Amino acid sequence: MSIKCPKCHAENRDNSKFCSNCAAPVAEGDRLADSLKINQ
Ligand SMILES: [Zn+2]
Repeated sequence: MSIKCPKCHAENRDNSKFCSNCAAPVAEGDRLADSLKINQ
């Protein structure tokens, strides 16, 4: 399984906390993802 970065859409490991591509916080169905979407 993997988590897609909400910012750059890179695939990261399931247990990643930060994107390996852009270092944005990645979390499953999390408020962090929502706040990143708002910023776009
Ligand atoms: Zn990213």
